[in-house]
Amino acid sequence: MRSLLSRSLLLVPPTSPRPRPRPFSSMAAPRARLRGVVFDMDGTLTVPVIDFAAMYRAVLGDDEYRRLRAESPTGIDILHLIEGWSPERQRTAYDVIADYERQGLDRLQIMPGAAELCSFLDSKKLRRGLITRNMRSAVDLFHQRFGIIFSPALSREFRPYKPDPAPLLHICSSWEVQPSEVMMVGDSLKDDVICGKRAGSFTCLLDQTGRYDASEFDSADLKPDFKVSSLTEVFPLLEANFDLAP
Ligand SMILES: [Mg+2]
Repeated sequence: MRSLLSRSLLLVPPTSPRPRPRPFSSMAAPRARLRGVVFDMDGTLTVPVIDFAAMYRAVLGDDEYRRLRAESPTGIDILHLIEGWSPERQRTAYDVIADYERQGLDRLQIMPGAAELCSFLDSKKLRRGLITRNMRSAVDLFHQRFGIIFSPALSREFRPYKPDPAPLLHICSSWEVQPSEVMMVGDSLKDDVICGKRAGSFTCLLDQTGRYDASEFDSADLKPDFKVSSLTEVFPLLEANFDLAP
């Protein structure tokens, strides 16, 4: 495991009640209970195939893309941006995005370790859900092609979408579990980790290339509880740190 962030993060929750160590006791600290895992889809359950930089450039134009990129190092929220545009300009933008997403679907591949991780969750009877900013049809195709079902699986038709915590809170309430009993796993700091943190859930950032190692991502409100470079690191992490109980 390249980087398991400080265990103390697990014990000093910013937003939700979680088990704390008992001072002056010889007993080991109780481990937090984990009852479900919610995944991002693109770049987390599937190998990243959408060239987001090219897509943003096509939607925004070169100059605007460069300007916005310089303003927001964690990434551009293209869907949010488009919502402020005129209906006509929005339509053109959504067509461009849909085109890139379709090309991505043609090359869809499951992320190494995803199927094994899902089998592990099944063996522990843990729930698994999915939240994506991609379209419903992409989720349907993912389910069909790989035969691994996530439920609920919320796409961008569910509003508001990530990084708003609403989709994650919706999944928690449909599972009848507390957000603090759920982990959000994803490859985007600005969407997945922020969504998880706002909901009061545990967060695990999948960073395959080390792009989030830079100090600009060190701020506390961006810090995930865990960081892995591969999904294969997730289930040992779950076993080591949580009481896994449905
Ligand atoms: Mg992603």
